[in-house]
Amino acid sequence: MPRTFAKPKSTAFATHPGIRYSLDVSLDEVKALSALMTFKCAVVDVPFGGGKAGLKINPREFSEFELEKITRNFALQLAKKGFLGPGVDVPAPDMGTGEREMSWIADTYSQTIGHSDLNSHACITGKPINQGGIHGRVSATGRGVFHGIDNFINEASFMSMIGTTPGWGGKTFIVQGLGNVGLHCTRYLTRAGARCIGIQEVDGAIFNPNGIDPKEIEEWKINNGTINGFPGAEPYKGENLIYEDCDIFVPAALEKIITKNNANKFKCKIIAEAANGPTTPAADKILMERNVLVIPDLYINAGGVTVSYFEWLKNLNHVSYGRLLFKYERESNYHLLESVQESLERRFGKAGGRIPIMPSESFQKRISGASEKDIVHSGLDYTMERSARQIMRTAMKYNLGLDLRTAAYVNSIEKIYLTYREAGLTFT
Ligand code: NAD
Repeated sequence: MPRTFAKPKSTAFATHPGIRYSLDVSLDEVKALSALMTFKCAVVDVPFGGGKAGLKINPREFSEFELEKITRNFALQLAKKGFLGPGVDVPAPDMGTGEREMSWIADTYSQTIGHSDLNSHACITGKPINQGGIHGRVSATGRGVFHGIDNFINEASFMSMIGTTPGWGGKTFIVQGLGNVGLHCTRYLTRAGARCIGIQEVDGAIFNPNGIDPKEIEEWKINNGTINGFPGAEPYKGENLIYEDCDIFVPAALEKIITKNNANKFKCKIIAEAANGPTTPAADKILMERNVLVIPDLYINAGGVTVSYFEWLKNLNHVSYGRLLFKYERESNYHLLESVQESLERRFGKAGGRIPIMPSESFQKRISGASEKDIVHSGLDYTMERSARQIMRTAMKYNLGLDLRTAAYVNSIEKIYLTYREAGLTFT
């Protein structure tokens, strides 16, 4: 069982290990993923360090009862060794795990080591709402991938470097892995105006040049446990779907699927690394030489850890975002409308009856202030945009062209170095 926690803390309190169940991961990969989490947190200014924990099992081979026993035991071992707690390591879902597993882990911790800790539920994120989770966490990584692409696809200078036009309209994409990240990313990209022409899963691939409907494929997969046989697309029969012509390829499953042996076969213009570590360094070089824009994992899939951070803050505050202000804000906004009405009536008189003041449709939607979901979405959007601007500035400053990965690492390492230096932990 590969289980490791590299703990190079970037800034403050806890580290953020993703918890994954997968057969396709080695100890070295888990170590690399741990380090990647540190750099990722720094890129998006989330004050966590990095970690990764995994069980080398195929969750499909176990019943729910068995998975619960395995997960609870795993949580107990982590907690006993000091690898779980609101101020130590605060994990979140990764491959093969989701809300259900996070809930078991939170419960195990709070029933054992954390039984007297008021903040025990802040020991893990990605929980269901009724266990202290936050609205918008399930879709956060996929939504973040959309924002990540959005920031670059609308940038004329980057699009001209790869020989395409800015904007979403008419763009096509292919997704590898229709799990949590892949599915939500497909939903948001489609909503933005792009067309999903193909999906590859572990047991097959489907293709439809006219577009695959995200809602329909989601329902099909839930009901049938596979994407195969989906009536809204044809089974893919070529060499490999991921090499097919499209604007954007979204790897959302495994590590190292783009290597020096196949990097020349990709025909897409943009690769959005929703998965962690899908591109090897040698492949990265080839893609750059071929003018493919790779939006790197440490930036583009950071939406998940960003919203995990929001969930952690919510748990430490013991109150959901917006709750204290809803009523006050709604009443304030009605007072504002009344005040405008009275001012107009004082000026123009009420001879013809009261002057009607109606909130516009968009104002009406916000009249009660921001819900938790609104706050999460806006915080995520802001985070992805701010980090994209930082990456663009660094790419420009060092004349890096399409090498966004180096730009993101430069930003990240600079932030970590400065934090260490200001804390007096360096000797230069
Ligand atoms: P998931 O388990 O929900 O989904 C993974 C999907 O990939 C599954 O549907 C699985 O059947 C499919 N898959 C597995 N092997 C495949 C193969 N060989 N070819 C095609 N499809 C295959 O996992 P997830 O949470 O969506 O994570 C996907 C990727 O995103 C991982 O690399 C993960 O590290 C990364 N990631 C996830 C999050 C998150 O919040 N969940 C955050 C950041 C990064």
